[in-house]
Amino acid sequence: MTSILNADLHCHSVVSDGTLTPEALAQRAKSNGVELWALTDHDEVGGQHRALAAARAAGLSYLTGVEISVTFADVTVHIVGLGFDPDHPQLVQGLQRTRGGRSERAQEMSDGLAKVGIAGAYEGALRYVGNPELVSRTHFARYLVESGVCKDTHEVFRKYLTEGKPGFVPHRWAKLGDAVRWIREAGGVAVIAHPARYSFTPTQEYALFTEFKEHGGLGVEVVTGSHTAAEYVRYADMALEFGLAASRGSDFHSPDESHTDLGALPYLEGKLTPVWELLAGRIHTPDQSPTATH
Ligand code: AMP
Ligand code: MN
Ligand code: MN
Ligand code: MN
Repeated sequence: MTSILNADLHCHSVVSDGTLTPEALAQRAKSNGVELWALTDHDEVGGQHRALAAARAAGLSYLTGVEISVTFADVTVHIVGLGFDPDHPQLVQGLQRTRGGRSERAQEMSDGLAKVGIAGAYEGALRYVGNPELVSRTHFARYLVESGVCKDTHEVFRKYLTEGKPGFVPHRWAKLGDAVRWIREAGGVAVIAHPARYSFTPTQEYALFTEFKEHGGLGVEVVTGSHTAAEYVRYADMALEFGLAASRGSDFHSPDESHTDLGALPYLEGKLTPVWELLAGRIHTPDQSPTATH
């Protein structure tokens, strides 16, 4: 396989904070021309068997996926895992621990919002939750838009849900080394998600990439829905500098909210090693599954 492949290896379903089912996402990916797809719900692999079956029915090649919340240098970092066994006990238990505490955090977020006059946000957010173990800031954002507090979810994040704002509650997620280890033990490849979106100094960013590699991480997202064209270039250079494979994914959440649709991204540059080259034996093709045994 070459870099010229419409791979979309990052998106979310109702199993985390997306608005579409795994089945609807598979259909949408297929109609948008995606050739290789991965569903990467936050801290949860509960949608993987559905996504794989839907991919097969739609005639799409599939890689299992997840996006794990990590705390590194006091900043939340997301690590995408691809091509793992979704039933692997260490991964499943690690994710379960990572999800633990989300409900309590959501209650505290709601308390913070109540102090600035927004009552009932916890109950409001729950109306949008597809998975009771996965109440996220996105669900609060949807509720605050629907109830007319803000015009869109970006405004909610800016005014209420980011560091220092009334609905923000600091949270300790998984450790970087643990997240990478769970993915590797389950036979997958770990990838740094949307590296441009973190508030790191250059030194901290260098430390993230260095430690990620030391833990056995192998890839970085270069072309993602949340990167600018300049950031594609910057992280292509970082991938080459650190000897990491490159990934491509829209981070699609919802037809109403996401500005990048499934599959609607530039291709990876030819000089990069696409992450799917490291995963050839883990790809579930529609007629045969997977291309090599686990
Ligand atoms: P959580 O895991 O509960 O902290 O929620 C994180 C999720 O919030 C991310 O995966 C995005 O889907 C969403 N998010 C974060 N920042 C923004 C933003 N500025 N605008 C819209 N959505 C955001
Ligand atoms: Mn999300
Ligand atoms: Mn993310
Ligand atoms: Mn994501």
